Amino acid sequence: MVGRPDERLSACLERLVSSFDRERHRASDPVRFVHRYVSPADREVVGLVAALLAFGRVRSVSQSVERVLERLGPSPAATIERSTRAQLTRRLRGCRHRMWGAAEFAQVLSAAARLRRREGSLGRAFAQRWSASGGDLREAIARWADALRGRRPTRTLRSLVPDPRSGSACKRLLLYLRWMVRPDDGIDLGLWPLPPSILLVPLDTHVHRMARNLGLTRRATASWRTAEEVTDALRRIDSQDPVRFDFALCHLGVSRACRSRFEPTTCLPCALRPVCKHARRASDMDLVATPRLSRRSDRRR
Ligand code: SF4
Repeated sequence: MVGRPDERLSACLERLVSSFDRERHRASDPVRFVHRYVSPADREVVGLVAALLAFGRVRSVSQSVERVLERLGPSPAATIERSTRAQLTRRLRGCRHRMWGAAEFAQVLSAAARLRRREGSLGRAFAQRWSASGGDLREAIARWADALRGRRPTRTLRSLVPDPRSGSACKRLLLYLRWMVRPDDGIDLGLWPLPPSILLVPLDTHVHRMARNLGLTRRATASWRTAEEVTDALRRIDSQDPVRFDFALCHLGVSRACRSRFEPTTCLPCALRPVCKHARRASDMDLVATPRLSRRSDRRR
């Protein structure tokens, strides 16, 4: 493939996104919980639950989100609106995900209900903080997360709702923003009044690995700074919507369609092969030619 590096990367990412089986991958993604609901109010509340719990194995995340949503009834937004924090704690008793339990979930959900009451929606509350911080995404997330944690948060609560000021990549909060802000494309929902150009990529292990495969970053840790660097690289390809590649990149790793090492079965059909460092290395070592050679030897037989 010829062209400048950004053009090659752009062509490969476009090919990946256009050929990606979004329906199939959505079925295993926590965003599917949000799509079960119709009203924007329920969607933003369910999105908050699903995104905050999106930490760990797919199966255990699904079970935990399912359990919390069951307890919140058919309209989670209405339930949190009419419940006190103590009532929510009782309702959510027995719900647990990793180190978080009913007390943390009830705190976040009652703070979310308060924000919705005062400012109209979680989206408006976020947009207000974004403009008050002069369009500084990190500061807007920090202020919005402060409001969800409340005063004197415990360490456990601070891990459920992280603070980007600490340098954390805040993958779950950025994932939630992606769902709420990016235009409705069957995965993301386009509910909040903000431009997708402000978003940063939610950098989990899979996206971080993919970004290193593609040379979008060389940083070894998945920090806020790394998320900025990866997003800057994607912004050169799509300045208006740089995180639109996130879903496909993430699910290549989740589904193990990419093992982040050269394997003929996964790499030969991969749309990203022309810009992937593992494929380049394999090609330098002549490994990419191996299957063709074996096909030739097959023909000879
Ligand atoms: S070429 Fe292979 S290692 Fe590289 S991104 Fe594709 S599947 Fe992953």
